[in-house]
Amino acid sequence: MEFCKRFYGKEFCWAIEFNCSEECEDSRRMGVFTSEAVVLRCWPLREADLIVSFFTRDYGRLHGVAKWALKSRKRFGGALEPMTLVRAWFAERPRAELVRLDQLEILSSPLSAPVDPVRMAVLSLFAELVDEALPERDRQETVFRLLASLLELTTVEQPWMPLTYFQLWMTRLMGLLPELGHCTACGEALLEGEISFNTLGDGLYCRLHRNGNASELTADSWQLAQRMLRAPASAFVDEAWPRRRALDLRRFTLQSLERHLERKLRSAEALARLGG
Ligand SMILES: [Zn+2]
Repeated sequence: MEFCKRFYGKEFCWAIEFNCSEECEDSRRMGVFTSEAVVLRCWPLREADLIVSFFTRDYGRLHGVAKWALKSRKRFGGALEPMTLVRAWFAERPRAELVRLDQLEILSSPLSAPVDPVRMAVLSLFAELVDEALPERDRQETVFRLLASLLELTTVEQPWMPLTYFQLWMTRLMGLLPELGHCTACGEALLEGEISFNTLGDGLYCRLHRNGNASELTADSWQLAQRMLRAPASAFVDEAWPRRRALDLRRFTLQSLERHLERKLRSAEALARLGG
């Protein structure tokens, strides 16, 4: 691809697909971009093409067309597997909804580590939540860093810690997590063993404001949540994480997320069937 010298070297460069001239028309201009990205999901567009939802570090979540992806496996290789961390090159015409995916270079594939149904379901939940929760073209570098770090830590041996950490932080980053030390209703300091959450509202409640259909948040989960908001996920890998640990915390954060999205996450239902 040749770059138009007039624009090359600016914040992003314009490339002209065909004959470049200083008077190039808008319709023939393509902005060419590159960014680290995580592939979220793909679906067929036409006979040979795929639409790819991918989450870039620098430009937020985008939809792109992967031309000939269905016909030529060579073109994108295994890079279109959901939750693959890639370097993406893509081009965009002004005012076009879809970008054109030109190249994906795999930086880290989820399939390079052992897989089992639980690990794949956890990775699917990461993909589904980012795909559903983030608006398009909204740069969210904190979410990107969170996702990229957890992809590495999500293993067959340890799927539950990254899942717990991701749900908690997504709840926080989406502004759905009131302060955890105090009752959302009255503001009184919460006491271990008396803390509850419910399906009707965000936040945690004291004994007095416990709702009729409330669920308890155990002391371990409550302390864990507060520690997780202060430390990177890597700080928790050496702790024991049986499946049932922080199950209540995951229910609490999932309820908030699903209430906000106004729908159930399919991957969360799959995880529930696997015991998570
Ligand atoms: Zn209260």
